[in-house]
Amino acid sequence: MGMSGFRVAMLAPPWIQVPPPGYGGIEEVVDLLCSALLRRGNEVTLFAPPGSRSRGTVVNPLADAHPDEIQRSLHESDHVGRAFELVDAGEPGERPYTVLHDHCGFVAVAMADRLATPIVHTLHGSFDDPGVVDFYGHHGHKVRVVALSEAQAEHSPAGLQIAAVVPNPIDVAAWPLGEHKEDYLLWIGRMNEEKGPHRALEAARLAGLPLVLAGPVQPGQEEFFEREVAPHLGRTGVTYVGEVGGRRKAELFAKARALLMPIRWAEPFGMVMVEALATGTPVIAFPEGSAPEIIEDGRCGFLVEDTEDMAAAIARLGSIEPSRCREAARRFDADSVAARYEDVYRAAAERAAGGALAAPPI
Ligand code: UDP
Repeated sequence: MGMSGFRVAMLAPPWIQVPPPGYGGIEEVVDLLCSALLRRGNEVTLFAPPGSRSRGTVVNPLADAHPDEIQRSLHESDHVGRAFELVDAGEPGERPYTVLHDHCGFVAVAMADRLATPIVHTLHGSFDDPGVVDFYGHHGHKVRVVALSEAQAEHSPAGLQIAAVVPNPIDVAAWPLGEHKEDYLLWIGRMNEEKGPHRALEAARLAGLPLVLAGPVQPGQEEFFEREVAPHLGRTGVTYVGEVGGRRKAELFAKARALLMPIRWAEPFGMVMVEALATGTPVIAFPEGSAPEIIEDGRCGFLVEDTEDMAAAIARLGSIEPSRCREAARRFDADSVAARYEDVYRAAAERAAGGALAAPPI
């Protein structure tokens, strides 16, 4: 694309560095997307907490990251308000931003009509909370909304226009392919009812295989962890490794017989499913949210209704080839995801310019 590429202001949330040191789905997505957009000839300025890294320009609207205060509106509004000021002001000698691509919670959406630059907003959450439904009903028209899966788009409130469905990206080549599996099942995620570590424990027990649990106990999840997970940790074959990142996480995925995904919520995307597939590890998931779009039943894993079915599917894992799993992850390769976002940016820029542009803006 050369210099005719887009000039993108990428707005990460204020909580965790990009790329994330450990847990951080959105931050991982933002990192991969920035890299792919830059490779494709776009200019990207990343607005993210201090400690963030990118081959493009990095701007820190706030002096600190706030990993232990996720969702505090003080930090989000401060971060977004400052980013808006900087995008508005531009930099001497630089062309204006084509779009601001927002991955934050709500502040940028609510205030989007106060910024001349058009805003593309990726939906990273679910619509379980009626307040969220009302919020998008009122403010959603101010941004171009991107959903992560058809399921998420379908679950979105009536009247909210979804401009495009663009999945989260993965850099498949960065993950090791695990052709020789060890004798354990993996569950990795947030410790709550929706993600279902307790159901993974049940399925592994029924199947008689060891289970490795990974993931942080985030603020607010302590009680669930103590009640549903901690009592099982003394059991033979159950290991809790806490929050993992980097090589250790990649190996945990690559050597597992399967990733268990006993979710009970409308999972908007589920990065861990695609990460498992990239390492050649099958995924056994409940058919909620995006799972049926990611898992082709019988090819790269199984879709099952409950923990008993899950245990039965574990016995059939021998029929799934690691290479087929890795192949399934390629659909989400960062380059094709970035190309799809470029289409969304182009449409946003055309709309802002009040008509169709013949070429991407210079
Ligand atoms: N993750 C991690 N370390 C952990 C647990 C999770 O790095 O101990 C990462 C995981 O690899 C994935 C992200 O956090 O990239 C979670 O994203 P996902 O979409 O699966 O779940 P959610 O965003 O709903 O928490």
